[in-house]
Amino acid sequence: MRIIFLGAPGSGKGTQSGILAKTLDIPAVSTGDIIRNILKTDDSRASVLKSYIDKGELVPSSVVEELLKERLEHADCSKGYILDGFPRTIEQAEALEKMGVFVDIVIDISVPDDLICVRMLNRLTCTKCGAIYNIETEMRPKVSGICDLCGGSLKKRSDDNEETIRTRLKVYNDQTLPLRNFYKSKNILHSIDGSADLKTSSEEILKLVRSSC
Ligand code: ADP
Ligand code: ZN
Repeated sequence: MRIIFLGAPGSGKGTQSGILAKTLDIPAVSTGDIIRNILKTDDSRASVLKSYIDKGELVPSSVVEELLKERLEHADCSKGYILDGFPRTIEQAEALEKMGVFVDIVIDISVPDDLICVRMLNRLTCTKCGAIYNIETEMRPKVSGICDLCGGSLKKRSDDNEETIRTRLKVYNDQTLPLRNFYKSKNILHSIDGSADLKTSSEEILKLVRSSC
């Protein structure tokens, strides 16, 4: 089973893919998390990658594609996986097909821009496992500043500031939105309302996935 989550930054892709991954017992593969993990190491690519992330721009596709390919070769992906944050451009979607990856379903989470901004400004991310929290919603951690799942410390992502959010939304509208039509024409696109509460949207997503696989 191969699933793609589409949606603007802050639409809830990361949260929903985490929930679905647990339910289906397949990994959620987030290219954003993969890149952020590289930034924590002394990998020679770290400083270049950081400069793109800090500006809110896309990292060059060749780099992300290589990282994704590596990740998908791990044994835990053999039963299927959920892609969160890839593809982000038509070029990347075509690269995925060239890798021989054909997905069963694409779930597009749509959320109005003003809600997206509020969500991102209140978002905290676990520095250890990447889990996502929100201090203003039902998704707040049990203990302030600590990850419920791994005990890691929670921090605001450096790219969750107003200026970078604006750039990321523009990049999304210009480069990622065209993917809706790309997958619609393949009859695998399903849209859901991401402004509903977490439980409602995750149940809707599970129903969609169960009916299409
Ligand atoms: P969000 O969707 O909330 O913006 P992500 O964690 O998915 O956050 O991505 C953070 C950043 O990582 C992006 O702004 C971009 O710089 C980089 N990135 C992630 N995935 C890709 C991708 N598929 N192609 C290019 N850059 C990417
Ligand atoms: Zn954690």
